[in-house]
Amino acid sequence: MAALLPGQATLGVLGGGQLGRMFVHAAQALGYRCVVLDPDAISPAGAVAESHVKADYLDPVGLAQMARDCDAITTEFENVPALALETLAGMRVVAPAAAAVAVCQDRAVEKAHFEAAGVACAPHAVITNEIELAGVDPALLPGILKTSRMGYDGKGQVRVRTPAELAAAWDDLKRVPCVLEQLLPLRAEVSVLVARGSDGQVVNYPVQQNLHRAGILAVTEVPAPAVPADVQAAAVAAARQVVQALGYVGVLCIEFFWLDDGRLVVNEMAPRPHNSGHWTMNGASVSQFEMQVRALAGLPLPEPRQHSASVMLNLLGDLWFPAGDDARTPPWDRVLALPGTHLHLYGKAEARRGRKMGHLNITADTPDAARAVAREAAVLLG
Ligand code: ADP
Ligand code: MG
Repeated sequence: MAALLPGQATLGVLGGGQLGRMFVHAAQALGYRCVVLDPDAISPAGAVAESHVKADYLDPVGLAQMARDCDAITTEFENVPALALETLAGMRVVAPAAAAVAVCQDRAVEKAHFEAAGVACAPHAVITNEIELAGVDPALLPGILKTSRMGYDGKGQVRVRTPAELAAAWDDLKRVPCVLEQLLPLRAEVSVLVARGSDGQVVNYPVQQNLHRAGILAVTEVPAPAVPADVQAAAVAAARQVVQALGYVGVLCIEFFWLDDGRLVVNEMAPRPHNSGHWTMNGASVSQFEMQVRALAGLPLPEPRQHSASVMLNLLGDLWFPAGDDARTPPWDRVLALPGTHLHLYGKAEARRGRKMGHLNITADTPDAARAVAREAAVLLG
């Protein structure tokens, strides 16, 4: 495909959340016009795009408008109906493809894809009916029961220790299709961002080490402080293998568990930029959002270079409620007085506990210096 050139083309994104907003910012910086499709009247991405198509993802009128106004269209979240992408693909450039997004929508399908690509995942069983439930290998317990579809930020997951707890948890999850995964002893969690162009070129970012709290990403550090070089190389190789096997076009993020026994297993993947890649906005030569724009537009994909040690702190709505019920604005002036701090707020109307409101990137010459500033920022935000 001939590249869609900056200053001429219009790019569309399905979904109006923060990832869509940062895609729009990156696209606009390059000189593209942007259209966001999101059903909500007010959305973080809709507020910054040149235009906002307010329609459901499967609304034929809304999709037709996207096809009319955009030269190429992407998605900011994996749960957009695959049919929406398929419909648009009949009319416009769409990347990633509906089939690749569909793989990421279902944990069981995703795990089968990892195994087919030769990448190990956690021992698991698929549970879609009573017979599969009864046949679960007890060696998978204790485990985590996860809904196959629609889970995020630890939602749709229940930890279970016994067959009785497993059966009760499956009831609680309304007996929807699930995957039971063995509870693994994690030494560290890492993720790798890769991008693949329509010409098959693949580039990757360095390994990101992630700390989760209550199932939600809290902190990302790059370079990964606790993970040896050979494990990092294995994660990068596995990520590149997966993106090739999918014939994927766009930015993809793969999460891994590094286990106490030294094994590396893949956890899940997201067909889009990822929260753990937000550090690239300030710590790398090309942000993950610019990479997404380039892949969609058919522009060259530069090998990204990390120029600063980076720490990313997720800013959840809880920071707006340090004591009691009255919301405050966190002391951004004091946080921004710290060296190497870069604040990104998503423009959400209202802070709520557990809601991702923004992130703070910290860049420095050395990992120790970045971490020291991150600690100071955390105290101020405490
Ligand atoms: P989500 O789609 O909500 O991100 P994940 O499968 O990534 O779901 O799980 C969220 C977090 O829960 C992981 O980042 C990890 O900290 C923990 N977790 C998930 N699966 C396992 C497992 N099999 N063993 C141990 N911890 C796990
Ligand atoms: Mg995850």
